[in-house]
Amino acid sequence: MSVIELEDVVKRYQSGMEVIEALEGVDFSADRGEMVTVIGPSGSGKSTMLNMIGLLDTPTEGRVRLDGREVTEFTEDELTEERRTGIGFVFQDFHLLPMLTATENVELPSMWDTSVDRHDRAVDLLERVGLGDRLDHTPDQLSGGQQQRVAVARSLINKPDILLADEPTGNLDQDTGQTILEELTRLKEDEDVAIVSVTHDDQMLEYTDSTVRIVDGVIQEVTRT
Ligand code: ADP
Ligand code: ADP
Repeated sequence: MSVIELEDVVKRYQSGMEVIEALEGVDFSADRGEMVTVIGPSGSGKSTMLNMIGLLDTPTEGRVRLDGREVTEFTEDELTEERRTGIGFVFQDFHLLPMLTATENVELPSMWDTSVDRHDRAVDLLERVGLGDRLDHTPDQLSGGQQQRVAVARSLINKPDILLADEPTGNLDQDTGQTILEELTRLKEDEDVAIVSVTHDDQMLEYTDSTVRIVDGVIQEVTRT
């Protein structure tokens, strides 16, 4: 069963007197262990789709299902919990806190969790992305690629079902981007997480399991690779 599913999703924004239809009946799904990449021109609805999948926005029409359950049936508390632990985020510009070490940055999203293995899991994740010798470094002591690997480790600390990646290679050179994509490919299987990304980086399409092309709020094509 798909971990996240959009069915016939319409999203309209009121912009002054004008109504903008950002999504015009979108169907989408992603499974655990799968990487799905959304591509399309600027203004085509990619961010709107990602916001819907991240439970940050709700559709005007249509259904969003998480693990088969309609999101409209979730209580506010359940939604908050899902956003906090069910979904991990990776951004183009890393979003690390400059005064914290790599390990502390990775631990941060799980600070509310009193279970004892938080530190161990952070260290384990950092070792698995090849940063075992950079645990106590702050972001300014790390390269761009290393910072993004810290961000990837951080996104997985709460064992999410879905990892949302907005241009994860956007600020990296081609070789560094490739190492990040290799990390993501390995981790999606080891962690059994669905990765949904938005990108302009063609290199990414070599690593993805499925490419969704959206133009003007309409899915034009889904390519399995
Ligand atoms: P993309 O991520 O592909 O660039 P977006 O999802 O950001 O596209 O935007 C899709 C369309 O919806 C665009 O026309 C954009 O201007 C419009 N849009 C997005 N968010 C809003 C908003 N909060 N209010 C009004 N219009 C919006
Ligand atoms: P991206 O480059 O990731 O597509 P955008 O610059 O299009 O991002 O949008 C940044 C934020 O502004 C998004 O949260 C989007 O929903 C919102 N936004 C985009 N277009 C509009 C708009 N026309 N009016 C209001 N908000 C918008």
